[in-house]
Amino acid sequence: MESGAVHILGAGLSGLSAATILAKAGIEVHVHEIRADSGARFDGDFQGLENWTTGNDFFEDMRDWGLDPESFKSDAFSVVDLIHPDDVITQPRTEGIAFRVVERGTDDHCIDQAFKRMAIAAGARLHYNSKRDPQDCQIIAAGPKESSAVAFGEVFHTDHPNHVSFQLNDKLAPGAYSYLIIIDGIGLICTCLWRKQKKSGRYLNETIAWYEQHYELNRKPIKRVGGKGDFSIPDRYLHEGRYYVGEAGGLQDFMWGFGMRYAITSGTLAAKSILGECDYEEEIRKQLVPLIKVSATNRFLMNRIGDRGFKKVAEYWMRDQERKGDGLEFMRWVYTPGIIRKMIWPIAKIFMLKRKRMSDGRMVTRMPFRRSLRRDSWEQSNEAVEIGEQWKEVKRTGGSVSFPDSDA
Ligand SMILES: Cc1cc2nc3c(=O)[nH]c(=O)nc-3n(C[C@H](O)[C@H](O)[C@H](O)COP(=O)(O)OP(=O)(O)OC[C@H]3O[C@@H](n4cnc5c(N)ncnc54)[C@H](O)[C@@H]3O)c2cc1C
Repeated sequence: MESGAVHILGAGLSGLSAATILAKAGIEVHVHEIRADSGARFDGDFQGLENWTTGNDFFEDMRDWGLDPESFKSDAFSVVDLIHPDDVITQPRTEGIAFRVVERGTDDHCIDQAFKRMAIAAGARLHYNSKRDPQDCQIIAAGPKESSAVAFGEVFHTDHPNHVSFQLNDKLAPGAYSYLIIIDGIGLICTCLWRKQKKSGRYLNETIAWYEQHYELNRKPIKRVGGKGDFSIPDRYLHEGRYYVGEAGGLQDFMWGFGMRYAITSGTLAAKSILGECDYEEEIRKQLVPLIKVSATNRFLMNRIGDRGFKKVAEYWMRDQERKGDGLEFMRWVYTPGIIRKMIWPIAKIFMLKRKRMSDGRMVTRMPFRRSLRRDSWEQSNEAVEIGEQWKEVKRTGGSVSFPDSDA
């Protein structure tokens, strides 16, 4: 490593947050990105930047850290359609902002490009299509390495107004959830698979068929997108002088996969630690690890319940909203490490997580991709088969797939 200069592996959200803060403080920063641009791991899909894991509005946190939340397009939501497993639709809502939808990718208005601009404006040097030995980097921000879960989605044109739906359904999204996001005439239907499946595209086709039956979408497919999530708890976040940030450090929400906030927060903390303003290991353990343990405990419980349990969760959420007058309180409670979840955590750790030595020598306790269950095999509906055929045609005429595993 050149003396004084900081080298960062990966120009995603965590790496660029760290780069911006370090460069602003006058440090020479080099960011090495294996792909051609920031955001190229994604391809124009929408993601939700959550506002429930702490009492703060995350945009306020970003401003405090010197990161500009106005530099990318975001759409705030205070209400969603919650789709129960038996197709009942209810609406959790809040007075404030529950989450913001941002776009991931290489277009100017995407969050990734805004973070790139911030890093460049601060003086960081970004090297794209660059291979760098991780040993020569002080911050490892290279995103997920292994798969604990995957998500597949289709992006399409629609004339439906802006909208978000969140669906708990163990058939369409084994062990997890599906969602519909519509922003300014572009829609995304995505299904998350927390159990490993062969020919996973069929789950997406069936999910799209479900949404088409329940919403007036007038859907015209553009492309299919997707990616993996890596959920792990390393023994140390600072290993042999290297700071592991974002998903490279396993910093992810085990329950739903809302990892952006963890990525930006951990990148910021690593930079502050290098500047001598805090102790990275200590801050990660104080600020993020308790949330990760709660989310892992929740994931353990969710793995044990099927649609009947999901229905109870959805009903409890709505009763809680009636009692407290705010639907976001339930989500805050879900991430609060109460006494019962603290007691369940050691059991969850033994039965759900596995110890593994990573190729860089780190010991991690990680969540392996779960095996499929017998109930995951079912006949596709005629509508889903047609949607699959429609997609094949779109693909033949140029529709791109950012995640090849999704082929049905
Ligand atoms: C389909 C999908 C939907 C998601 N939805 C949400 C959501 O709604 N809300 C949410 O909060 N989170 C969501 N997430 C998770 C979120 O995208 C990630 O947690 C977050 O982007 C992690 O940030 P990061 O900086 O760790 O990694 P990234 O932002 O992925 O950045 C890592 C970068 O490192 C680069 N890289 C990889 N290997 C190397 C190497 N060897 N050398 C150099 N560079 C390398 C990659 O190309 C990439 O640019 C979703 C993830 C997926 C896959």
